[in-house]
This record gives sequence, C-alpha cells and structure tokens, in this order.
Amino acid sequence: MTEGVFSFHRMQEGCRADVLAVWLHFIKNYTPLAKQLLRHYFPEQEQRGLLARVFREARADEARLWRSFAGAGEKEFVLHFRYFVLAQGRAVRGGSPETPLTPENFWAVLQEFPSLQREMLALTFHRYSPEELSVFLKFEPETIVAVVAQAREKLEAALGPAAGGDFERRDHDALFAAVEKQRGEACVLDKAYVRFVDGQLTWREREEVERHLESCFYCLNRFAEFREAAHFFHVLPPADEAVVAELAAALGLPVQAPPKKKPPWWQRLLGG
Ligand SMILES: [Zn+2]
Repeated sequence: MTEGVFSFHRMQEGCRADVLAVWLHFIKNYTPLAKQLLRHYFPEQEQRGLLARVFREARADEARLWRSFAGAGEKEFVLHFRYFVLAQGRAVRGGSPETPLTPENFWAVLQEFPSLQREMLALTFHRYSPEELSVFLKFEPETIVAVVAQAREKLEAALGPAAGGDFERRDHDALFAAVEKQRGEACVLDKAYVRFVDGQLTWREREEVERHLESCFYCLNRFAEFREAAHFFHVLPPADEAVVAELAAALGLPVQAPPKKKPPWWQRLLGG
C-alpha cells in the first residue's frame, strides 16, 4: 500500500529501525489482514490475544518479521506476512488437527483437474465457501460447487469414508503446513507469482512458470495463498484509531489515546 504517509520502502526501513510512527502505520494497515486470517484459520482461539501476539512477535528480536523478509516489494511481503500470522496461530494452538489428507494423496487427486481448478480446489480445502471464493477467483459459485463435488467423489474413492460428508469444510491446516515444507530447488520465487499475476512476465518466463505449476503442489498452493492474501489485503480497509491504540497499548508502545475533540465554542456556550 503506497498511499498514506509511508511508501513500502520507508515502512520496511522504519519498522526495522523501530520508529514508533512507522510501526503504528504498519499496524493500521496490516491489522485487518491479520484479523481476517486469524478468524478464518483459528476461530477457536482467543482472537485479541492472538492478534497482539502477531505484532509483538513481529517486532521482537529486532523486528523479526522484517528481518526474515528477503523480497523487495509489498505484494511479496503480504504473502510473507500471511505465513508469519499462520505460524503464530499454529504456535498458540499447538500444531494443527489431524487430517487424512497428505501432500501426496491430495496432489494425486488435484492432478486430475485442469490447473485453474486445482488452485480453486486448494483454496476450497482452506475452508472457503464457493461464494467467498467466487469473489477472488474467476469462477461462478455453481461451477465451484460442481468441481468440488467431483473432487470429493475422487477423494472418497481414494480415502474411503474418512473423506465423506462436507470433507472440504473441515480443518486441513496440517496438510498445508506440510506442503509449506516442500519447497524444492526449482520452485518459483514469490517475486515471480507477483509478476505473473501483474502480467509482467515475458512470454517465455510465463510458460516456464506455468509448466512448473503443472507439476509442483508447493508452488500451486503458495500461488493460491498469494491470491488469498492479496485479495484480503486489497479489499479490507485499514484499522481505525481505536483498534491501533488498543494494539499499541498491548505491545507497550508509548502512544497516547487521540485527544477528544473539543466541541465548538457555540455548542459550549449552549451547554451542549
Ligand atoms: Zn515449485
């Protein structure tokens, strides 16, 4: 987000140098995405404490969140932030509940679908409803419902009754946590997903990325998660002053509540 007071570059520098105003700006702009992810993936956890933990850990150890970011632009950073938020949630929850899905058996089923549908299916198993997904993928909800039904049938055939019912609505975070560890030598850099989506790759580069995505579950999933994070970052408005002040207080940042506006002189005269 380049609007507002700070460019991404200044935000990065400022957070690393622990400049208070920059941290407040960062909190204001990233709280909505953090809240959305925590509510979606860790609904059973206490949300306020978890949210405060995200930013406390981000700032700890000389701005750990920023020091661990190797990319250059904000779009890549949004994805990096997504992983950071999920790591905090998993740490508090103590891991992820079990699922019969593994990177191998899930990928085997995904491969029976065309690429774009694979991405959609990956996000469906991140517990997004067809209606939610149709907002950020170019599919009608009815199409999503139909494809998910096919996938469910195939999964049931492969895994038995464990994959029955509304299987895709259960918590499969353990599957995605496992996939995250499978980054390979030939995997696409986050920067390339951004350029791919922004249409900045050359024809040849694009073809190379597409070919890799055909055969790599890690990249397919990361790409899907990039779309997810970018979507919410883009559509959610920044946090309001009260939320920022509350978080700042929880982090021990020395900020004062914004002064209450004095009523205009005529209202005071009227005793209002
Ligand atoms: Zn890959």
